[in-house]
Amino acid sequence: MTNRVLIAEDEHRIASFVSKGLRSNGFIPTCVADGQSALEVALSGEVDLLILDIGLPDLDGFTVLRRLRGAGSRLPVVVLTARDGVRDTVAVLEGGADDYMSKPFRFEELLARVRLRLRPERAATAEPTVLRSGDLALDLRTRRAHVGDRVVDLTAREFVLAETFLRHPGQVLAREQLLSAVWGYDYDPGSNIVDVYIGYLRRKLGAARITTVRGMGYRLEG
Ligand code: CA
Repeated sequence: MTNRVLIAEDEHRIASFVSKGLRSNGFIPTCVADGQSALEVALSGEVDLLILDIGLPDLDGFTVLRRLRGAGSRLPVVVLTARDGVRDTVAVLEGGADDYMSKPFRFEELLARVRLRLRPERAATAEPTVLRSGDLALDLRTRRAHVGDRVVDLTAREFVLAETFLRHPGQVLAREQLLSAVWGYDYDPGSNIVDVYIGYLRRKLGAARITTVRGMGYRLEG
């Protein structure tokens, strides 16, 4: 199994958000909060991928990346950058990063990159373009939803919420889980936005489509 992910991030909130998300998707995350530790663990051969923040104490992400590649390591690296600057992006890719994410990001976006970098051949061919549950179909390329032959107009956020359900068939998804999957870590956990959007989806896809499981969350009915 190649599922051990090292998270080098000094912001506890982000490290814990990423770590929880990865664990619930079958990965084994390890967290470090400074560049020196990141480099040591990355070179130990005990991880399969590195998620590397640029702004780290001791050694910054650029230095970690340079030393890692300088030591001959080909460990896949996904860089997290707080800055949206084109210069940083070019610099991390030239520095040997495989991919990057600008903060803030949604967990699902990071997860897709992690999967792609861990299994490049499989991810390229095995990723479905249409997700289905009963008569509901989501086309991931056109971002359109269909119920039977009918096209349903979903907003970008509604689409991602529906997609999250379809990627976890039959599972009860907690409000907190949906919040972090769809809205990212930059959202107030006390917010009722999930419930509001579940309401929108029920209106558009049929009220019986999503069941409330009291005290636990929501489930998509197939
Ligand atoms: Ca940082």
